[in-house]
Amino acid sequence: MTSTPVDAQADTRLPLRPELAGEEPYGAPQLDVPVLLNVNENPYPPSEAVVASIANAVAEAARGLNRYPDREFRELRTALAGYLEREAQVTGLDADHLWAANGSNEVMLHLLQAFGGPGRTALSFAPTYSMYPEYARDTNTTWVTGRREEDFTLDADRACELIARERPAVVLLPSPNNPTGTALPLETVQRILDVARTSGPIDVANDDAESTSAATPPASVVVIDEAYAEFRREATPSALTLLADNPHLAVTRTMSKAFGMAGARVGYLAAAPALVDALRVVRLPYHLSAVTQAVALAALGHTDELMAQVASLREERDGLVTWLLSQGLDAVPSDANFVLFGRFTDRNAVWEGLLERGVLVRQTGPDGWLRVSVGTPEETAAFKAALVEVLGA
Ligand code: PMP
Repeated sequence: MTSTPVDAQADTRLPLRPELAGEEPYGAPQLDVPVLLNVNENPYPPSEAVVASIANAVAEAARGLNRYPDREFRELRTALAGYLEREAQVTGLDADHLWAANGSNEVMLHLLQAFGGPGRTALSFAPTYSMYPEYARDTNTTWVTGRREEDFTLDADRACELIARERPAVVLLPSPNNPTGTALPLETVQRILDVARTSGPIDVANDDAESTSAATPPASVVVIDEAYAEFRREATPSALTLLADNPHLAVTRTMSKAFGMAGARVGYLAAAPALVDALRVVRLPYHLSAVTQAVALAALGHTDELMAQVASLREERDGLVTWLLSQGLDAVPSDANFVLFGRFTDRNAVWEGLLERGVLVRQTGPDGWLRVSVGTPEETAAFKAALVEVLGA
């Protein structure tokens, strides 16, 4: 039997969706560099005690790998609800309010699959997380961006006006924002939630669904993306405190940042049970593997230990902002585990200069700015030394 190598079949054209032509896969460069400060990871690996618990849990899960995993993963959802109640000092959350997937990336894809789609709009305010337009593209959802102010805050009046005008199905608001680190005051979130209660898409399917529902326009789903919430400063509350009165609010979180579990791929959200039920419809069956569930549950059993570094990372971040300002640079006040700094006439040259000195940061956000993740004190010191050299060169 003969076969033709795949790369020799040159005259067969794939029916690629036109909007994907020329698109590159999303992701920051994964380079082998001593100081990695480019994707907002937690610089502290899990302790040996955590590693041992995870290994035991995975071994146990391995014994049942001939079976599909628990599709509803209620044990994990209950554990996540308990964690959130404690972290944000809220009550009334249980498994029915929780959802999880392979990173909050996948949670947000589920949101767009359930509420976006052709003829519908998702909206955010730039500069914002650069994956959002990709979820929109991949679900055939129209993507609209408003602007943040010069200082990267959100003007509530202008935001509400745009939402009322565009009638988005989904509003995506990171708080703290990536790449600026700016958190939204709860008053702003509440104003947006008030407008969003009736600012959703008015489409045929909604009007036909029930004749009585045609009188009340649907809501926009407001997603407060709290991937970095555990790093917020003292006075910054979580949008979880607004869940009880807002069935159109979804608060997303992740184990990738504060928990230091980026490699495990576990993101989750809290919302009203009806919203969670919509996500259960669009998820692939068994999307969260038995291994992932076991890892997440084992890690949650060590929450306090895993989070022990969060306070020192916050301090490290505040020190970094102060230091950048003392160098005569701009640095945006941050509630996250990264800092946006600048402004450089040639940010690429600064990025390359740092890379040559073994420090990888991220070229993202508005032109002229760079973003650096908060690392260990040693990594921060290496970053500072490299930056001084680059700027002095
Ligand atoms: N939201 C924001 C604002 C992020 O910066 C990130 C990761 N960079 C995510 C969501 C997704 O994180 P994960 O999929 O690892 O949970």
